Amino acid sequence: TTELAHVEAQIVEIPDYPQPGVIFRDVMPVLSDGEALRTVAKALLAPFAGQFDVVAGIEARGFLLAGAAATVANVGLVPIRKAGKLPRPAASVPYQLEYGTEEVEIQRDIAPGTRVLVMDDVLATGGTIAAAIELVRKIDALPTGIAVLMELDGLGGREALGDGLPLHTLFHG
Ligand code: 5GP
Repeated sequence: TTELAHVEAQIVEIPDYPQPGVIFRDVMPVLSDGEALRTVAKALLAPFAGQFDVVAGIEARGFLLAGAAATVANVGLVPIRKAGKLPRPAASVPYQLEYGTEEVEIQRDIAPGTRVLVMDDVLATGGTIAAAIELVRKIDALPTGIAVLMELDGLGGREALGDGLPLHTLFHG
């Protein structure tokens, strides 16, 4: 739609961030525009109507999109955090980054069988979302879909996630 085209134009390419040779997609301008934020929240949810009980956002930018989307869908928001930040018993899953490892955690108080739509801003190699999905399964909740603002083609993210879950991406970079 023209609305989404207008949103896409607000994503800014930042060369050599966070390191030389990398082009970082800065999605923050989308979030600071109220119309764009609402358009994005609705578009991320569109294919998943009736298929989730909560939206899980991945720290940190995923929180922002998931919060907006959860409000639009009238469901709750569950944070998937970097390790060491949750105050109560949490499950954790480590995953590989290009250099070193990272770890994501989720609070263990989500009811078994809860249907979870996993959301993040950017899909690159897929490692982060794959870990988030594993995490949701680890607490016996049920991932039902993945919604991402921008998919970076050519980094293997879609392939890494496989075809077990529907993957919905609004833009490609
Ligand atoms: P992956 O695990 O798929 O390689 O990387 C995805 C994670 O890194 C996401 O949580 C995302 O926020 C972050 N990320 C990687 N590249 C970019 C980028 O160009 N722009 C933004 N906004 N985030 C990125």
